[in-house]
Amino acid sequence: VNFDAIVVGSGAGGSAAAWQLSRRGLRVLLLERGPRLPRDAGSHDAGRFPAGAAATVEGEPWSAPGGRTLLPRERFNLGGKTKWYGAGLVRFAPHEFAADLAHDCPCWPISYADMEPYYELAEHLLGAREFPVEPDLARIARGLEARDPAWTAQPMPLGLPGEILDRPDEPGGTDAFAAPHALTADAEVRLLDPVSSGSGLTVVTDKRVTDLVSGPDPTRIAGVRCADGTGYSANTVLLAAGALHSPRLLQRYVRATGLALRLPCSDAIGRAYKAHLSTAMLAVSWRRQTDFLRKTALLLHADHPHSSAVPLGWLDGAPLAPELPFFLPPALARLVGRHAYGLYLQTEDGSHRDNRVYDAPLADRPPIVDYDAARLPAAVSEHAAFTRRLADDLRHLGYAVLTRRVPVEDTTHACGTLPAGANPATSVVDADGRVHGLENAYVVDGSALPRLARVDPALTIYAWSLRVTSRLDIRTDRRARGALDRPHEGS
Ligand SMILES: Cc1cc2nc3c(=O)[nH]c(=O)nc-3n(C[C@H](O)[C@H](O)[C@H](O)COP(=O)(O)OP(=O)(O)OC[C@H]3O[C@@H](n4cnc5c(N)ncnc54)[C@H](O)[C@@H]3O)c2cc1C
Repeated sequence: VNFDAIVVGSGAGGSAAAWQLSRRGLRVLLLERGPRLPRDAGSHDAGRFPAGAAATVEGEPWSAPGGRTLLPRERFNLGGKTKWYGAGLVRFAPHEFAADLAHDCPCWPISYADMEPYYELAEHLLGAREFPVEPDLARIARGLEARDPAWTAQPMPLGLPGEILDRPDEPGGTDAFAAPHALTADAEVRLLDPVSSGSGLTVVTDKRVTDLVSGPDPTRIAGVRCADGTGYSANTVLLAAGALHSPRLLQRYVRATGLALRLPCSDAIGRAYKAHLSTAMLAVSWRRQTDFLRKTALLLHADHPHSSAVPLGWLDGAPLAPELPFFLPPALARLVGRHAYGLYLQTEDGSHRDNRVYDAPLADRPPIVDYDAARLPAAVSEHAAFTRRLADDLRHLGYAVLTRRVPVEDTTHACGTLPAGANPATSVVDADGRVHGLENAYVVDGSALPRLARVDPALTIYAWSLRVTSRLDIRTDRRARGALDRPHEGS
């Protein structure tokens, strides 16, 4: 065995796992499918990395029902989607760890109290902090609250240092652009860089894992095989390839080893895909919008408890133009951008077993994503009502409002395809992140989230991964050295 642990994928979950296991003195191999992104502002070049467009992404075609081909907007690079994220680091609420059957939401197998110490650790590692709510957003929030007291603005912790306010060239990096000055607390900068020298961590980029390899007993995974023919072995394998990819690796494994018929959770693999029901909204004002960070608060309404509106980062013409429901030449798009506040409205989509991702049984066929929001009528009706209410109230405040439903190709918040739970018939991993029925396979990315809640998921993914990797007992031929970063849990 070469390594104590192999981590497949380096996004929020994979990097947090690599950080924790390296700190424990273990020999960790982190395999990342994509490259390291440049740190020279090259990622701000809309020609090379057009934000929001399918070309940011390696264009791997998927099939959807009805023979449709789609290109999910995945981000294959070191740090995963966190290199592009807005660094809004919000905890799920305690009640969002319980079941909500009227909204098709199962419960977590752990409570908020179990997760709390790891939320604290993640916030500390990422330097999460609140900034004062900026003037344009405060004006919107005040106007909404005056019209309807059920609206509230909740301050949003951001993974950004105070010095960002002195770097006017950085804000584009806080949403949908990889940050040029490494100020945004992404997974590469905050978790991999600090442990990459002098630890047992080996990071290999441009390495796509294609298969998990069985040991003599298939309930124990021996290692992984990669697209270039190389292979690696380890005592433990942690899946962190993201919610569209981790389940496919596991599906292929259970098919190849015959475990598909024996493993109690095999039918649940890839099911219960969720990504929020989302609408992009532009509130355009006659007044020029000058807020710098933009994402300083999120908007909530008491009548729509599964929904939130999160401001989008700075809207320049280049990312804005493809998002508009009509064509605008670049100069006009830039002008609209200066007067617009972008909002991302999201409603928790519950779990439905037919909303799923899976590998086509024939090797030369594209993978399949089958997601139909109509299977979740409670979420659909809440999202429509929340969108209508916010649009109406903003119009009343004098904004022109444009909306666009975010399509299934937008996998920004993809989660839930290997959910944690107590029952192997409806979940894939247990409360410790271990795949039901496998000895040494764990899931540490967004796939493991049984609920997506009403806010962005990255902080919860980091926290889940830190929890799993602080508890797992890696069977190793060397004793794990060093302190175990394992905070005291609430229950
Ligand atoms: C534009 C944008 C803005 C966002 N803003 C926010 C925000 O403000 N707040 C928030 O909480 N969340 C935000 N998110 C979402 C957040 O970034 C994701 O939820 C989070 O990064 C998901 O983490 P993950 O570990 O599950 O997967 P990912 O981050 O997707 O990481 C998966 C990694 O695995 C790699 N991989 C895939 N397949 C393989 C394979 N076969 N072999 C090896 N490696 C593989 C991928 O290349 C990738 O690096 C945003 C996302 C985007 C795209």
